[in-house]
Amino acid sequence: MGKIEEIIKILKERFNLSEEKIRYEIKEKLYEFGGLISEEGAAILVAREYGIDIREIKTFSFLSELVSGMRNVNVRVKVFKSLPLKEFERKDGTKGYVKIFLVGDSSDIARLVFWNEFAEETENMKIKDGDILKIYNARTKENVFGEIDIIVDKNTYIEFDNKDDLPSIDVLLEKYSKDKYQRLESSLDSIGHYEVVGIISAIYGNNFFFKTCPICGNKVGKKEEKYFCDLHGEIEPKNSLFLRFEVNTFNGNLRAVAFREVAEKIVEIKTEELEKFENLKEFLENLLLGKIVLIRGRARKNKFLNVIELVVNEVEDVNIEKEIEKLIQSIEN
Ligand SMILES: [Zn+2]
Repeated sequence: MGKIEEIIKILKERFNLSEEKIRYEIKEKLYEFGGLISEEGAAILVAREYGIDIREIKTFSFLSELVSGMRNVNVRVKVFKSLPLKEFERKDGTKGYVKIFLVGDSSDIARLVFWNEFAEETENMKIKDGDILKIYNARTKENVFGEIDIIVDKNTYIEFDNKDDLPSIDVLLEKYSKDKYQRLESSLDSIGHYEVVGIISAIYGNNFFFKTCPICGNKVGKKEEKYFCDLHGEIEPKNSLFLRFEVNTFNGNLRAVAFREVAEKIVEIKTEELEKFENLKEFLENLLLGKIVLIRGRARKNKFLNVIELVVNEVEDVNIEKEIEKLIQSIEN
């Protein structure tokens, strides 16, 4: 929901105004300032005249817009599956908890993650499948699958919403189920699960490792030369492999990214071995450029690059004859 719609909603609810009247007042403001302000600016001025604190006007991001490391994120989502509360033991022997809900909006799906005391609190919140949640001031973090999690912390607050205008639980579950990969028949320009056959035609970047927790595999954060896992506290990290590459298909090129074991499967060499190379980029280019791959993954928006990229979940050996047959069939059709 945009800022203007949010302002209209607040004015309607709090001052019992009609939408027509509010929109008229916004137009009047626009006219008064002779094109110096935008419609959104005009709406803000109207809201201020009614004494509304502008800071309380929140807008929601689409899940497809989220990238790792965001703070004060607001999203409006439907819960479509809840995973059981998980207990784990920290290095110092104390217990920790994590509770995960799978949520979705019209753009994408994501995991909503509650750690420790927040995980325990969910028991009282009685969140159930189908509930629509307005989540304010959450943060985002990339998870072990290369997808973006919504993390609840002490700044986060959650409201239930009665208006159900989001996709049904079935639609979201279908999006979630990983075995429904569609063979990509055109260029990669929308999110979803896809299977692609192509040739690796470029390797991006010069860095191929990121630091992870040796216990759970989560990406770790660094503070003053020390590494921390959300789950396991201070740890001695290990390197995990990642690979950003271009795949050339009969429909053109697409960007793909693979992490950990999936990346290892593409390279067919263990991370510990790859760490020893002086010029890994050159080695990987020699090894991989021209390699035919069949990959399955989830297409997501890379907001930094403003492109859709495929996060690879599975890699398979290609049966060339079968693929050529398929290609001929698709051309004939
Ligand atoms: Zn860990």
